Amino acid sequence: MTTRAVVVGAGGLGGPIALALGAAGLELLIVDPDVVELSNLHRQIQFTTADLGHPKAPRLAGLVVGRGGQARAVVDRFTAARADALAADADLIVDASDDPATKFAVADWAVTSGRPYVIAAALRYGGNVMVGAPGLACYRCLFEEPDREAPSCADAGVLGPVVGAIGGVAAAVAIGLVRGERGLAGALLAFDDLRAVADPRIVRFAARRDCPACARAPISPFERPVKLAEAR
Ligand SMILES: [Zn+2]
Repeated sequence: MTTRAVVVGAGGLGGPIALALGAAGLELLIVDPDVVELSNLHRQIQFTTADLGHPKAPRLAGLVVGRGGQARAVVDRFTAARADALAADADLIVDASDDPATKFAVADWAVTSGRPYVIAAALRYGGNVMVGAPGLACYRCLFEEPDREAPSCADAGVLGPVVGAIGGVAAAVAIGLVRGERGLAGALLAFDDLRAVADPRIVRFAARRDCPACARAPISPFERPVKLAEAR
């Protein structure tokens, strides 16, 4: 049985995540509303100047397919209103966006629909990866609300290799979730400064009793160990 994953974001994090998950045999849907800009290229190394002005999602999906993987693209923003239409048949969802509201939309949808999920973020010299699974403390338990003031990579900058490192970690833990590994589920892996220390702080936290996302989320029939596709 093929495992389906939605990758939200086709930029600096989404590039390494999609290429790794596609090469691991997952069938991908890549969702991103943006086009490639010159200022992206230092960190979104899957793109070249030939991609400038073209939508990111189909360009990245093309790279996955060119390596023998399976990927489709949607040029759109992942929102709560669009989540069911985009992700209904997904076994796993990975956020690689640079937008707090999108991260909450992905996490909330994953929690209420009972899917395992990974939320990746990078800024300046570090980043973090939240590993989520049904029945455990969720992204909203920890961060509560989108931070509308949070600086983006475009505003505050990010060291190019940092997104590759964080994206690689996110892809590795996503493959672990697909294989039924839950050892890091419910934890945040925090990399404060990858120029200095490569080991993450592993932050475990309790569920908030009144969390609007997970407090009443059912344990879903979707939650099951799913298998990587057999070798094609
Ligand atoms: Zn919660």
